[in-house]
Amino acid sequence: MDYFLTEEQQMIKEVARKIAEERIKPLRAELDEKEEFPRELLKVIAQSDLFGVFIPQEYGGFGGGSFENCLAVEELSRGCLGVSTSFAASGLGSDPILLYGSEEQKKKYLPEVAAGRKLAAFALTESTAGSDAGGILTSAELKGNEYVLNGTKQWITNAGEADLYSVIAITDRSKGPRGASAFIVEKGDPGFGFGKKESKMGIRASATGELIFNQCRIPKDRLLGREGMGFIAAMKTFDLSRPGVGAQGVGLAQAALEEAVQFARTRVQFGKPIMTFQAIQHMLADMATLIEAARALVYSAARFIDSGAKDVSKISAMAKVFASDAAMKVTTDAVQVFGGTGYMRDYPVEKMMRDAKILQIYEGTNQVQRNIIGQELNKEGGRKKG
Ligand SMILES: Cc1cc2nc3c(=O)[nH]c(=O)nc-3n(C[C@H](O)[C@H](O)[C@H](O)COP(=O)(O)OP(=O)(O)OC[C@H]3O[C@@H](n4cnc5c(N)ncnc54)[C@H](O)[C@@H]3O)c2cc1C
Repeated sequence: MDYFLTEEQQMIKEVARKIAEERIKPLRAELDEKEEFPRELLKVIAQSDLFGVFIPQEYGGFGGGSFENCLAVEELSRGCLGVSTSFAASGLGSDPILLYGSEEQKKKYLPEVAAGRKLAAFALTESTAGSDAGGILTSAELKGNEYVLNGTKQWITNAGEADLYSVIAITDRSKGPRGASAFIVEKGDPGFGFGKKESKMGIRASATGELIFNQCRIPKDRLLGREGMGFIAAMKTFDLSRPGVGAQGVGLAQAALEEAVQFARTRVQFGKPIMTFQAIQHMLADMATLIEAARALVYSAARFIDSGAKDVSKISAMAKVFASDAAMKVTTDAVQVFGGTGYMRDYPVEKMMRDAKILQIYEGTNQVQRNIIGQELNKEGGRKKG
């Protein structure tokens, strides 16, 4: 399928694919087994300038947008979803700076992220606040020229590994949803530390852990935007990033399909390759069709965002929900095509199936995405836009 990529977009895709094939694939099983953070691979990705594909040129990036980011994420995800999650989470962590940062903040932080010298992370979730972000307890109080943060964030991707953290904290509890604000916290800030590191079902190469703020003091110019904009910043960040989760699903599902086709062509039962059985062909045909539909939706959503459209919540949620459900189905079916072999750790499809599950959970569960789509439909009152 031709998506009419420009020369530069084609180059991003090829660079990311080469890294996935030559550098990530040979290491993915070991990283998964050892739950090891892919520091060296992230350096390779940085050397290829992929961290900056969506960052404007004036801040040291390539000057692309959500679409270019999706191309890079898709190809890296073909290699290993744990590695692509570590990569994509840095984009997620820098999105609030891109969206709400002052000129000084952008100049200070974005070139570092674009060059891959600094890794970023995004911290909203707490033990009391998952789907219901309004339940966060982490507080930030202005004292003189500093904000003092207290609280604990959980399940933060790149925790302990990232240098910069976009953190959502309550500045005025009496204001409800308008009482949260967004801050940049740097590794090494006084009173900022890391707690439990999680052991996970999938994406085991990525680091997931706690951030602990204990009388953590940061200069007041680390506030992003204005006080009270924390939840808006979080929601706009997700609007921007969710097609990227969809792109992870597309890349992962594509990798699973390729493994399944190769296996089906060589595995012989009843005297013939299993590929010749119509039941197997139909399963593979459905997998391929789902992937192409997911890719088309993800690319459309990303291009819509890059067009400068304001109202992107619905299409962004659709891209995430459709492509992540597709990835779960395709990776599960890939294991089925492999039969018992697919259940064994010697083959990559069992890891792909374990990895796929997270795409239906993080950056808002797929139930929450359907809530967003439903609410937008209600707002539109049945009138199709565009
Ligand atoms: C590996 C991993 C990495 C993560 N990385 C980050 C990160 O970098 N930064 C960050 O801030 N967070 C991160 N998270 C947190 C993630 O975004 C949350 O897990 C997710 O938003 C869901 O919250 P929860 O797990 O508390 O589930 P809950 O909110 O407790 O939901 C439990 C179940 O109830 C359903 N549910 C809840 N409310 C509704 C509703 N209103 N309607 C219908 N169904 C509902 C959910 O869909 C789910 O099935 C990460 C999580 C994991 C597992």
